[in-house]
Amino acid sequence: MKTYIFLGAPGVGKGTMAEKLSKDYDYRHISTGDILRRETRNNTELGQEAKQYVDSGQLVPDRVVADMVSQELENLDSSVPGIIFDGFPRTVEQARHLDRVFSENQIQLTAAVLFEADEELIVKRLTARWLCRECGAIFNTLFNPPKEPAKCDSCGGELYQRSDDQEATIRDRLQVYRKETAPLIDYYKQRGLLRRVFSGGQPQKNYRDLLEALK
Ligand code: AMP
Repeated sequence: MKTYIFLGAPGVGKGTMAEKLSKDYDYRHISTGDILRRETRNNTELGQEAKQYVDSGQLVPDRVVADMVSQELENLDSSVPGIIFDGFPRTVEQARHLDRVFSENQIQLTAAVLFEADEELIVKRLTARWLCRECGAIFNTLFNPPKEPAKCDSCGGELYQRSDDQEATIRDRLQVYRKETAPLIDYYKQRGLLRRVFSGGQPQKNYRDLLEALK
């Protein structure tokens, strides 16, 4: 089983790439951000606890996210050809948790893929990002617009903008990334597992570069 961690600043394209790769290769896409948003939408206890952090661009406590991921892995169909962790781990503590879970289940990490792009491009991308309420597909009114405004190309669902995709919150999220998550680059580099993908281009080109980096 292939196991990939998608690392990189918010808005760098991890979700778009994970969505495409998981579709093309039948991989399981585990996005902690998506799970938290779903929990918040369903107004569960977890969702209520997470909302304040998500809306202000801060990280949800490690314990909460670690439990969530463990649960996802317990429910996983063991015949899947691969798993992509998108937006997890985001702290060294979370990375250690994943190491423990992997070693308990005799799973090896195939690679941690670091996506990189210019910060101002990231801010531009995020303020123009729209998501499908039904299927989660990601669009961008500047770089990858839907065929019809506010309507999903894939399923016809309604598109919406995330509450944390406002410029001030985006800047806070970037700061949190630099402080809490960027140390993971060295964490995986030291283990010889880091691959880098420049994702400042067009989605098709970024995807080709990703496939190249995974070879
Ligand atoms: P994302 O969709 O990955 O951009 O995540 C959106 C928000 O969910 C983040 O800004 C955090 O508030 C929260 N979140 C997602 N993943 C994690 C994680 N691994 N650890 C802590 N908080 C997370």
